[in-house]
Amino acid sequence: MKTEQTVRLPSVDRILADAACLDLIAHYGRVQTLACARAVLAELRTAMLAGAGLAQCGEEGASIAAIAAHMGERLQAQARSRLRAVFNLTGTVLHTNLGRALLPDAAVHAVVEALQWPMNLEFDLETGKRGDRDDLVEELLRELTGAEAATIVNNNAAAVLLMLNTLAQNKEVIVSRGELVEIGGAFRIPDVMTRAGAVLREVGSTNRTHLADYANGINEHTSLLMKVHCSNYAITGFTKSVELGELVPLAAQHAIPTAVDLGSGTLVDLAQYGLPHETTVRETIAAGADLVTFSGDKLLGGPQCGVIVGRADLIAKIKRNPLKRALRVGKLTLAALAPVLQLYRAPDLLAERLTTLRLLTRPAAAMRAQAEQLLPQLQQVLGKSYAVTAESMTSQIGSGALPVDQLPSFGLAIRSAPGSRLSNPLGVLEQRLRALPCPVIGRIGQDTLWLDLRCLEAAHETAFIAQLDELSA
Ligand SMILES: *Cc1c(COP(=O)(O)O)cnc(C)c1O
Repeated sequence: MKTEQTVRLPSVDRILADAACLDLIAHYGRVQTLACARAVLAELRTAMLAGAGLAQCGEEGASIAAIAAHMGERLQAQARSRLRAVFNLTGTVLHTNLGRALLPDAAVHAVVEALQWPMNLEFDLETGKRGDRDDLVEELLRELTGAEAATIVNNNAAAVLLMLNTLAQNKEVIVSRGELVEIGGAFRIPDVMTRAGAVLREVGSTNRTHLADYANGINEHTSLLMKVHCSNYAITGFTKSVELGELVPLAAQHAIPTAVDLGSGTLVDLAQYGLPHETTVRETIAAGADLVTFSGDKLLGGPQCGVIVGRADLIAKIKRNPLKRALRVGKLTLAALAPVLQLYRAPDLLAERLTTLRLLTRPAAAMRAQAEQLLPQLQQVLGKSYAVTAESMTSQIGSGALPVDQLPSFGLAIRSAPGSRLSNPLGVLEQRLRALPCPVIGRIGQDTLWLDLRCLEAAHETAFIAQLDELSA
C-alpha cells in the first residue's frame, strides 16, 4: 500500500501547459479541460494509493503525455451526442424506435437553410403582414388530397387529440369496437378520447360492426362518427366492418361530421409501384370524410408531424383551438415537409426520389448482389465461430402500415457455427454490432441473426464496410 507521499503526480498547471492539452483547450475550452484534468488526477491518486495505475495510462502510470491522452479520450466521449446514426438492418423500413422515415436530399437542404436563416414562417411576403405557418403547405396538401383545407401539428397522435378536443369535447364520438386501436407507446383510442374530453361510444363487436350499430348509437350528444385505421393488426375470419362510403350518408342524415384516423396516410396508390394498395388520403376525402388525420413520417416519407385535412369550416375551428398553439410544428418540420410534398407532384419519379418509397421498392436482385458481395468480408471478420450465408428474408413496412404484408427481401443470415463454444453467441454478436462506431441493428429469430440489406443503400455501404474490421478485434 502506497502512502500520500509516495504518490507523485504532475500538477494541474503542468498538465494544462502541455502541448497536447493546449490542443484540448482550443477544442473543448479551458473550463471543461481543467475540470477533466482534475477529475483524471483525482482518479489516478485514488488508484495509485490502492497500488494500481490508471489502466488507460499504461506502465508509467502518470506521465503528462499519458494523462493528456486519457483526457482527450474522455473529453471526446463526453462530447459525443447520445443521438447517434445507426444502420437499420432490422428489415423494418419505417422503424419507430429508429426514427421512421429517412428524408430525401431536397428536404435535407431545406432544413439546413431553415437552421441558418430567418424564414418567412409566419410572415406574408406579399402583404408584409403576419402570416399563418400552415399556409406554407396547405395549398400543396389541398392539391394532393382533394381536401378543402389542412393544418399541421406535432404528430398524428396530436392531430387526433386536437380534432377530438375541438369537435367532441363533452360530447360523444362513435367508434366501432373493432377499431379501438392501440399504437405502440401508449396511444390508445379510448385513452386519447378521454384526454380530449370526449366520450367514447363503442358500437358493434370486436369482429363485426354493422351500419345499424352506428345508427343505433347516434343520439343528441353525438358529435362525430369516427373510423380508425387498424394499423398494426388485422381482424380476419367472420368479420364485418362498415365502409366509410356507407357511413357518410348516415352521418349526413343526422348532420354529424365523419372523421377518419388513417394512421399512415399515403398520398399515392402504392400499387403502381408494386406494393400492396393502401387507402389514400384522396380516396378517403372523396368517399366523403369530413376530416382525415395521418402521420408525416410513416408512408408519406416526411418529417415527424401530424396532418389534418378536410372541410374548411372544421379545419378553421381546429386552428382556433388554443391546443393548436401547444401542438404546432416548428420551422424545421415545415421546411422538410414542403419539399417532400412537392415530390408527389411527380409520381412517376417518386420511387427514385422519395427515400422511403425507394427503400420499399428496392429490387430483390440488388439486395441479393449486395449480400453476396458483403458475405466474404463479414465471414472473414467474424471468424470460425459464426457461419454467414446470403439468404432471402422478409421486410416489413413498419409503423403500422400494412401489418400483414411482407416484402420479399435479401440479406445476411448469421448462425453460430457447429462446434462453437461461445455461450449465447448471437446475443454476443448482436451486442458487438451495437458497439460499433455506427451501430448495426439487426434482428434475432430462429437461432439466426438477420441483417436485412433493404435499408443499406449504396451511399452508406462504404461506411458499413469500413467499420467491419473493428468487429474482429
Ligand atoms: C401511427 C398511428 C397513430 C399515431 O401517429 P404518430 O404520428 O406516431 O403520433 C395514430 N393512429 C393510427 C391509426 C396510427 O397508425
